[in-house]
Amino acid sequence: MAFERAGAPLVSVERTVAAPRRGHILLRVSACGICRTDLHVIDGELADPKPHVIPGHEIIGRVVAIGAGVDGFKVGDRVGVPWLGSACGRCEFCRGGRENLCDSPRFTGYTLDGGYAQFATADAAYAFAIPSQYSDAEAAPLMCAGLIGYRSWKLVRNARRLGIYGFGAAAHIVAQLAVFHGQEVYAFTRAGDTAAQKLARDLGARWAGASEEMPPKPLDGAIIFAPVGPLVPLALAALAKGGTLVLGGIHMTPIPAMPYELLWGERVIRSVANLTRQDAKEFLEIAPRIPIRPHVTTFDLTDANAAIGRLRAGELTGAAVLVPPA
Ligand SMILES: [Zn+2]
Ligand SMILES: [Zn+2]
Repeated sequence: MAFERAGAPLVSVERTVAAPRRGHILLRVSACGICRTDLHVIDGELADPKPHVIPGHEIIGRVVAIGAGVDGFKVGDRVGVPWLGSACGRCEFCRGGRENLCDSPRFTGYTLDGGYAQFATADAAYAFAIPSQYSDAEAAPLMCAGLIGYRSWKLVRNARRLGIYGFGAAAHIVAQLAVFHGQEVYAFTRAGDTAAQKLARDLGARWAGASEEMPPKPLDGAIIFAPVGPLVPLALAALAKGGTLVLGGIHMTPIPAMPYELLWGERVIRSVANLTRQDAKEFLEIAPRIPIRPHVTTFDLTDANAAIGRLRAGELTGAAVLVPPA
């Protein structure tokens, strides 16, 4: 299914956009990253999306109006809006500092309208100031590829040899984090994806090859960003005893049956779900210090379908970002 709104007429008059609700801000979108999760939303692979939802959860924009009760932002500020649109603040997960697991969360571009648009609203309490070093297009992928990548990476930050499966937007950011922290990065891509393998090496990866290949040495940790279940036994086979395998995607094709020997030896598999605002605070502080440099390809918002098609076909290296007309 194509993203049906991409060809719709664009709003050109700010007054046609309603004033933001209490606690919310209205943004003029200046860039919105395209995430693999957007494809899952568009393809109907995630349960109960907002009907006719506007995708996009890597939003960078400028505040053009402020609802009652908003602290911390003023008109003209540049802000970023991530996947976690809001959490309830009351459930046991929220109260325990795990708002990423909230029982009644709202997600940007999935259960809330997102940033494939000229304007977007956001709950101000879940939006962030963006480090000034980044252009709007560079900053967009930090909002999900960066944040979910960072949360995934924290679980394997002590791995000396770190494998990354699926070398797209999140992986190319995590590789920079890992190299900065002295880890050896081993990048796994689709067979023959020499562009992604070259990007990995350029970013400091020790080794880059196809997912079906074994790395030259066993890995202490690995992250799978590709939504491909058969990568799980492949990655486990590449892990040393005691290694951790992190599944960083929201959706994955079925994981095939596999011999217990692949897991034996205290290997661990775990998923990463969403993000907390604390993750965002930490990551937006560390990213400009490294500095993490997102490699972005920009597309006009009206070319969203073509951009999505190229992402789906694996034709993009780094991160893709939609830019609305000025
Ligand atoms: Zn909650
Ligand atoms: Zn995402």
